Amino acid sequence: MTKKTIIAGNWKMNKTNAETKELIQALVPLVKDAKCEVVCCVPFTDIVTARKAARGSNIKIGAQNVHWAEKGAFTGEISAEMLKELKVQYVLTGHSERRQYFGETDETVNLRTKAALNAGLKVIVCVGELLSEREAGKTAEVVTRQTIGALKDISKQELKRVVIAYEPVWAIGTGKTATAQDANDTIKIIRKVVRKLYGRASANSIRIQYGGSMNPKNASELMAMKEIDGGLIGGASLKPEDFAKVVNY
Ligand code: PEP
Repeated sequence: MTKKTIIAGNWKMNKTNAETKELIQALVPLVKDAKCEVVCCVPFTDIVTARKAARGSNIKIGAQNVHWAEKGAFTGEISAEMLKELKVQYVLTGHSERRQYFGETDETVNLRTKAALNAGLKVIVCVGELLSEREAGKTAEVVTRQTIGALKDISKQELKRVVIAYEPVWAIGTGKTATAQDANDTIKIIRKVVRKLYGRASANSIRIQYGGSMNPKNASELMAMKEIDGGLIGGASLKPEDFAKVVNY
């Protein structure tokens, strides 16, 4: 079975509704012939506008976070059912900014991932080491721990709706990219973890993206690597021309 590569934009806390409409409308014609799956993970408040602007196109809309509970006293949070009602297809979990600034742990990443999968959503779960961890030679240990943690109690069947994004934290928003070889090597380690947990077929078919300052200039080199099945794009996803160049790498 051939797997389709996936390029997803993470807009983070950017774009008003008016700007969302403009961006998606500009993007639609630029990516219409894309060979990969195209996803835009937008702020919650932009989901409806983004979906309407993307209607009839090959652009899928994703969210950037999801809570694990069905409902209840969790001020400021959004449930998987709420996202489903808005016809969101993908949701990010475990982004390093959530881990760094909002106290997200391997356990909460797992809870959020499971809740999204239970609701029928697809999940892009992010893992990646800090610069200090890389310098201490702990990259393999960290991504292994994060991958095992994120996938705890997720079935082989559910895994089919999971994409993993390997994002070295020091490369996010910094203009520093992991070398294509380094990214490839670490993704290989993550794939080996998936193989140990789910077997060879699942490991081969799961899509593992690279993320971290990926842009029109470095996309081709990164995407040419054997283990890299896509990209998670922050800064460059905010400009339709740049994002389209990555999509059409
Ligand atoms: C991200 O936020 O997931 C990301 C990769 O950001 P950037 O492309 O800006 O480094």
